[in-house]
Amino acid sequence: MDLKNIEHIGIAVNNIDESLKYYEGVLGLKCYAIEEVAEQKVKTAFLKIGETKIELLEATSDDSPIAKFIEKRGQGIHHIAFAVNGIESALSELKVNEIQLIDEKPRKGAEGLDIAFLHPKSTGGVLTEICEKK
Ligand code: ZN
Repeated sequence: MDLKNIEHIGIAVNNIDESLKYYEGVLGLKCYAIEEVAEQKVKTAFLKIGETKIELLEATSDDSPIAKFIEKRGQGIHHIAFAVNGIESALSELKVNEIQLIDEKPRKGAEGLDIAFLHPKSTGGVLTEICEKK
């Protein structure tokens, strides 16, 4: 598998505006984009640090996966995303290695990336995303 870098870290938050007081106000990072992914029922905010981004995730509905996550575990790290060269072949390779895939095929995520999630049951408890910019 050809992993390049940590593309982003996804963090589930109650309220993006509240969280930006910390990420921008205290840490001094800059939010460069806020985007709603209607299909996932989330609003996302992106901040960049080096090559890596922080993706803040706020639920836009009570039945959003993020709302469920926060209900169970509270705010915090939700997933880690690796940039990969060749997402389709990476998925086939993961399948051969019996990694449980949430997305069998890449789908469109925020920022127009092709993304796919791996089930935390197969990754030692870490919800993992692989993504590729095409
Ligand atoms: Zn993500």
